[in-house]
Amino acid sequence: MPITHPANGTRSPTVALMYHALFREEMPSGQDPHYTLHADDFDRHLQQLAATQGGTSTAAVLNGFPQAQAILTFDDGHMSNFTLAFPMLLKHGMRADFFINPATVGTPGFARWSELREMAEAGMSIQSHGYDHVYLTHLSARKLRETLSAARHEIEQRIGQPVTLLAPPGGRMPANLTAIARECGYARILSSIPGRLPRVLPGDSSIPRMAVTRAIDETVFARWIEGNRSSILRERLRYQGLSLAKRMLGDAGYERVRARTLAALRGAS
Ligand SMILES: [Zn+2]
Repeated sequence: MPITHPANGTRSPTVALMYHALFREEMPSGQDPHYTLHADDFDRHLQQLAATQGGTSTAAVLNGFPQAQAILTFDDGHMSNFTLAFPMLLKHGMRADFFINPATVGTPGFARWSELREMAEAGMSIQSHGYDHVYLTHLSARKLRETLSAARHEIEQRIGQPVTLLAPPGGRMPANLTAIARECGYARILSSIPGRLPRVLPGDSSIPRMAVTRAIDETVFARWIEGNRSSILRERLRYQGLSLAKRMLGDAGYERVRARTLAALRGAS
């Protein structure tokens, strides 16, 4: 059962959900099909959330509005964040955090600064996904400091709202990340490790997130937002298996194996 807020009977979020791109007619080119959801599926998720306590952003929770069923987040700043996700969130009166890379803003397939500003002005939270989507595990401490600072300053300057949240690209978190992110002005890190949210979001360890892929059906989604322990544990175990494969093969080796597997699956279907 979800944790009940003792003071007023409303809930703090059970899970943080991680989305990427959405599509309506055609799958956008260059996007990972596994992580790209049909807009109707996203709308169904918002309806499922609307039937409970709704969805909100991490920024809103940290700013003292913790009552929601789930936290909604988007990684990568895909243009569909603006064209599809944003109007649907507004329709349902919900908020989300959007983790973007300054280096790709306004390039083909990605939202522009003016669009991100419009989203921020309507209550969305625009946050940092690093400067250019290079995995942070590939950087020296000096480079890591540079990229995290540059990303935060540029987003703050362009959007005009505080940037205090970091979602590391590819979920890759070097051991020195928490300390360096804090030095660079980030209050919280959102990971890609699946898990339930504690009632008070941790400042010293990362905030877990559930990756919403095309493979997630309405039943599984309902279990996640209820905070069902076994469904969430299953995701965590799967994630740990994948992390082990990534460590054994290295990032490049893992991507090669994954691309071959996806191509073979497409060939078979
Ligand atoms: Zn990403």
